[in-house]
Amino acid sequence: MKVVDQIKQAKSTLFSIEILPPLKGKSIQSIYNIIDPLQDFKPSFVDVTYHREEYVYKKREGGYLEKVSTRKRPGTVGICAAIMNRYKIDTVPHIICGGFTKEETESALIDLQFLGIDNVLVLRGDAVKNERSFIPEPGGNAYAIDLVKQVVNMNQGSYLHEEEMMEVTPTNFCIGVAGYPEKHYEAPNLTSDLKYLKMKVDAGAQYIVTQMFYDNQKYFDFVKKCRDMDINVPIVPGLKVLTTKAQTSILPKTFFLDIPHDLMEAVDKCTNDQQAKEVGIEWAMMQSKELIKAGAPVLHFYTMGSAEPVRRVVSKVF
Ligand code: FAD
Repeated sequence: MKVVDQIKQAKSTLFSIEILPPLKGKSIQSIYNIIDPLQDFKPSFVDVTYHREEYVYKKREGGYLEKVSTRKRPGTVGICAAIMNRYKIDTVPHIICGGFTKEETESALIDLQFLGIDNVLVLRGDAVKNERSFIPEPGGNAYAIDLVKQVVNMNQGSYLHEEEMMEVTPTNFCIGVAGYPEKHYEAPNLTSDLKYLKMKVDAGAQYIVTQMFYDNQKYFDFVKKCRDMDINVPIVPGLKVLTTKAQTSILPKTFFLDIPHDLMEAVDKCTNDQQAKEVGIEWAMMQSKELIKAGAPVLHFYTMGSAEPVRRVVSKVF
């Protein structure tokens, strides 16, 4: 079922998760180890992230260096199919602009359609290592909005190079996009970022999933600003349970977010990661309860390889 239909039919806040494909060469069991303990809480859908290639330089005979493309976490589409088959849960593969021509994107979307996957989260992707800023693939989509438009075209039965085609079956994807309560790091200001978010929604995105945040007021302000700009689709808050002391500096650097003073003070008092995790779980419970009370459509948890902290939070709030 489409994510927006699940939200429309729900009588209360839903629960969903995001998982990362295992590292190349690892077993899919690591995915099941995350979903199994969360099954009791009936996740409405499972997002599976997409990780584009990275370049490494390999030393070859004679001393020259060869640039080799490698993917650390392949398997997004296969994982979605495996989860649907095993758990009968809806999956949301992430699709990105980076590294894909429009033709390759079209083929990937056709695969998803054949697998019976109804949802996609449409993203631009980040710059690859060694590149200072995001460079689109020649013949690919430059911004998430361009990819939204490609999916919308396919939903309307318009494929690339369609003059060569006889009859077409439209796809039927529900399209989600990313939103940033604390602003996307490249945007000059939040208003500019929201202008582009509105363009994604006007182009056909049906719901928004936010970057993680630790201060609910930032989410509430973001929702208000979106509504003021006539962005009226569901806005799903993304949550990540803080589990180590180091994350108070890693998460801001990686995701461009603030750690609230009270949370920082509580973590600073911890002498080890076990104590920091307890603080993180308490904080996520507090955030979750307040978001549910405020009528958030879904609580979407970034599992980042570990089900246990999420299980402890949702067992207390759902
Ligand atoms: P866009 O919406 O394209 O925005 C990128 C920047 O350009 C913003 O600053 C925006 O203000 C600006 N902008 C947008 N449109 C235009 C325009 N037409 N002209 C000029 N400026 C414009 N990354 C992955 O690689 N794989 C994943 O699976 C993944 N999952 C994610 C899930 C969520 C919920 C979130 C929040 C992020 C995820 N990301 C993922 C990270 C994401 O790819 C990066 O944050 C990326 O830098 C921006 O993606 P976007 O879709 O928001 O881009």
